[in-house]
Amino acid sequence: SVRLRYAPSPTGHLHIGGARTALFNYLYARKMGGQFILRIEDTDQARNVEGAAGKFYDELRWLGIDWDEGEDIGGPHAPYRCMERLPIYKQYVDQLLKENKAYYCYCTEEELEREREELLAKGQMPRYMGRCRHLTEEQKQAFELEGRKKTIRFRVPEGQIITIRDHIRGEVQFESDGIGDFVIVKSDGIPTYNFQVVIDDHLMDITLVVRGEEHLSNTPRQVLVYQAFGWEIPEFAHLSLILNEDGKKLSKRDESIIQFVSQYRELGYLPEAIVNFLALLGWSPGGEQEIFSKEELIQLFSLDRVNKSGAIFDTQKLQWMNGHYIKEADLERIVEMSIPYLQQAGFIGETFDREWVTLLVSLFKEQMTCVSELPKLASMFFADEIEYKGEAADVLQEEQVPIVLSAFVAQLENVETWSIEAIKTALKQVQKETGYKGRPLFMTVRVAATGQVHGPDLNSSLFLLGKEKVLNRLKKLL
Ligand code: GLU
Repeated sequence: SVRLRYAPSPTGHLHIGGARTALFNYLYARKMGGQFILRIEDTDQARNVEGAAGKFYDELRWLGIDWDEGEDIGGPHAPYRCMERLPIYKQYVDQLLKENKAYYCYCTEEELEREREELLAKGQMPRYMGRCRHLTEEQKQAFELEGRKKTIRFRVPEGQIITIRDHIRGEVQFESDGIGDFVIVKSDGIPTYNFQVVIDDHLMDITLVVRGEEHLSNTPRQVLVYQAFGWEIPEFAHLSLILNEDGKKLSKRDESIIQFVSQYRELGYLPEAIVNFLALLGWSPGGEQEIFSKEELIQLFSLDRVNKSGAIFDTQKLQWMNGHYIKEADLERIVEMSIPYLQQAGFIGETFDREWVTLLVSLFKEQMTCVSELPKLASMFFADEIEYKGEAADVLQEEQVPIVLSAFVAQLENVETWSIEAIKTALKQVQKETGYKGRPLFMTVRVAATGQVHGPDLNSSLFLLGKEKVLNRLKKLL
């Protein structure tokens, strides 16, 4: 059966690109009834961020992505964190050295830099030209005596065509002569990604590698390592880049797009919306349907419908989708999510009237694109003073306003138990007394009480505002 993996480097929070890679791996593994493995690739220690792996686990689980093997749940191929696998790599490095498929390199940074510059000056692709490829024992000893640091390089075979079968790109070919002998172990003894990933994918029985297009140029190097060991080469699928709305490659610094899953979570996005959106970032099952549950995605997902060209990140579509999922969600769930935002805005305290909050949320549930918007959408319920501007100010100039408002105030003052029913009755009474009904009646009350010409259900809004606030606002206008 198929075995796939997501192998992030723990460099920070889960990025939307990483989340998409994880999701595609997950969907395909689940669809095929295979396994999905999570591996933490932390050999590039300078880039590691403390605690990042834990965040990945948390954020992936929040999205509803789970895995069958990983550091936190164990599995038959443990450890699943590369820095804990150093003894494993060493054994394979030793094998390559012994077979003369790898060699020690004593070149200094300065020497390598000079070589780079020389090649660039000649208009050639910079690569390692093999200065240490054929060192004699004496030369090696001399370097050792000098105390030079050494790396281990992979001996790239000459004159080979390396063919990669990619599920998305078809056959992709590379010439081995364009690839310099690359470092597989750094001078600190830690293997590089291009070596480590092959050992791990092989030992973990990975059958299909799905990852970002930025790794395509690494793949021929990895294929060479597989070949050096005589191992079966997994299949590959390189996902196209994510582009911003200008069609440019998304860079982590691009501020036009929110790029981390944790940020969406903080803004009150629903994980189903993100998953649905990410699934369509470079893949589509065809047809017009855009809303898919995770189960549907698993059922429909296929690699041959993944796009070769870049996928544009359409923020508006994500907002629309999130709004859709909020609308569909259980009211209780959205209430639960709303509480911290209302508290943060100072609109409710540690203790609050849950029924009141539930009604408030129900009034705005259809309108929200993310839950953190609620305090802004509902601010009129909390403001001490309201300003009447634009259309609202115009409405207040209409002739019925003083008549309607004084009649309504008189009615409300007699209300003992504040309820939606009581408000309805009071409005009916005003209609009877004044003869105003429909728009002149309701618009007057709405604008006077809320400062807005549009808004959620009037009776519920007045109820939520509370008797005191409504009366204060109306009286001020009289
Ligand atoms: N650790 C690599 C990264 O974060 C994974 C590449 C791969 O999937 O092979 O980009």
